Amino acid sequence: MKQPIQFKIARAVEKYYADLQLIIESSPNQSNWACKKTCSFCCNGPIVITSSEVLHIARKMESDIEPLINLEAHLKSYLDCVSKCKYYFEHSIPCVFLKDEICLIYKIRPSVCRKYFSLNRNNCIKDRPISTFTDPYCMKNGKNLLSTFRTQLTKLGLPESMEDFHVGIFNIFFNPNSSKGGEHYGEKNRRTISC
Ligand code: SF4
Repeated sequence: MKQPIQFKIARAVEKYYADLQLIIESSPNQSNWACKKTCSFCCNGPIVITSSEVLHIARKMESDIEPLINLEAHLKSYLDCVSKCKYYFEHSIPCVFLKDEICLIYKIRPSVCRKYFSLNRNNCIKDRPISTFTDPYCMKNGKNLLSTFRTQLTKLGLPESMEDFHVGIFNIFFNPNSSKGGEHYGEKNRRTISC
């Protein structure tokens, strides 16, 4: 029997996260990680993830996140905010899922957030280039793993492009004609919200 696309995506993404966790746990830099709960410095800026992760998160949000917040209202108000902002990247706009300095989707957060560890808390301040102080072990090995993951997705016939997290999420929730939302995810799960 043919497996529904969402199960294939869930299996591939969860395996990817499990493999990534092994890399993270083997980092020789662990004792130097400066990351602390409620520090959300790295959550302010562009978050680029695979389209399979976007689809995985979108599916999980309805069961995991919707009971916590009014998802529709949350996404709408965020969209209002970013659409008024002319220079999105210059303003370091927080991630759509950052609320009161807490990640609303922590359990299902994308790989880019999982492998990111600051090695110097003093650098977690505005106007510093983020890439200069991350754990090089996690970044290098995580990048190799991402390539393998993307190749596997292609072989499975799953979406494998990289995309802006916000754009991907909004395509699914707000754009009924988006092929990313509909084609890969199924009509039943596609939500149409007009604003
Ligand atoms: S998904 Fe969570 S951890 Fe990742 S950038 Fe957004 S708020 Fe931060």
